[in-house]
Amino acid sequence: AEFCRQLPKVELHAHLNGSISSATMQTLLKRYKNRLEREGNETPQLWETTILKGEKRALADCFLMFKMIHTLVNDEESVRIVAHEVVREFADDGVVYLELRSTPRANPATGMTKHSYVQAILCGIDKALSECRTTMHVRLLLSIDRRQSVAEAMDTVELALAHVEQTPHHTRVVGIDLSGDPTVGDIPALLPVLHSAKERGLKLSLHVSEIPQRNEETALLLSVCPDRLGHGTFIHQEAGGSPELEERVLAMKTPIEVCLTSNVKGQTVSNYENHHLPLWHKRGHPIVICTDDKGVFSTTLSEEYAIAGETFFLSQEQLRQLASHAVEHIFEHDLKNELLKLSDV
Ligand code: 5GP
Repeated sequence: AEFCRQLPKVELHAHLNGSISSATMQTLLKRYKNRLEREGNETPQLWETTILKGEKRALADCFLMFKMIHTLVNDEESVRIVAHEVVREFADDGVVYLELRSTPRANPATGMTKHSYVQAILCGIDKALSECRTTMHVRLLLSIDRRQSVAEAMDTVELALAHVEQTPHHTRVVGIDLSGDPTVGDIPALLPVLHSAKERGLKLSLHVSEIPQRNEETALLLSVCPDRLGHGTFIHQEAGGSPELEERVLAMKTPIEVCLTSNVKGQTVSNYENHHLPLWHKRGHPIVICTDDKGVFSTTLSEEYAIAGETFFLSQEQLRQLASHAVEHIFEHDLKNELLKLSDV
């Protein structure tokens, strides 16, 4: 476990509001209760926002947790706190490059706009980096939620591009993520938005085949040529996908972000041993070990490396190689050489 913590790691699949530690959650709950009391409203009962060790939930219940978390992270200050703490925690876990992702959210009641939401994240990131004792780099993807309308999704792309234009030499926003409840949403309608994002220079990471029998939808999403895939749990034919889809992904060489504990606790995979990670690894396909939601699934990136090692009998050298190869798939090209040097030591 100490080997995995010391290993310089890159985290490429981490949803901001799913990554909130229980300590930060306590701070947020206190703030929320204080405000309700000031306003003379009743304090709510304590909500479940994390799945403890050994426990599991239906995927639908995980999405309910995000709803609850969003109630607590509902103004610029809470977004700043969350971004600051999450970055600090990843740094403490030996992460040298972090790509966070988050869905811009407005809240008229607190004056938060989608723009100020993103600014608050960037502010929290800057604060954490200024305090960081080790070398760390952080980039941001803006997420489109599958249930959003075409107009809302396009707003997110425009928001990302506006940020890139305003900060041409030190852009933190590097791409777009497509996520949200995999059972809902109109993917054919969102395709042109994703195309447009890609054409205009943004990188794309898309959640695909997170649940069974999504071959057709995944084929559509592959037509946009995403730069990375989230989960892809049911693509490989041995995992219930299809030979055609599997071969297509292998030929495209699109890296897959794998999230072991998330998949087991969210019950899309029955246990660690049955995870699709080794199916791709065996075929030499690029995979990147990620946390997904370290708060909700109560894990860390070093724990995920340790679990991969134990479950699939990977040596320390193989884990070191996985961490080092992950650098090839970061969205910030200019940092690759620097990070590769770090992971060579
Ligand atoms: P946020 O975007 O608010 O920072 O992070 C929470 C959001 O990320 C959720 O509301 C959901 O849209 C997305 N998300 C987090 N974890 C998962 C996951 O495992 N699968 C999918 N499809 N979406 C997720």
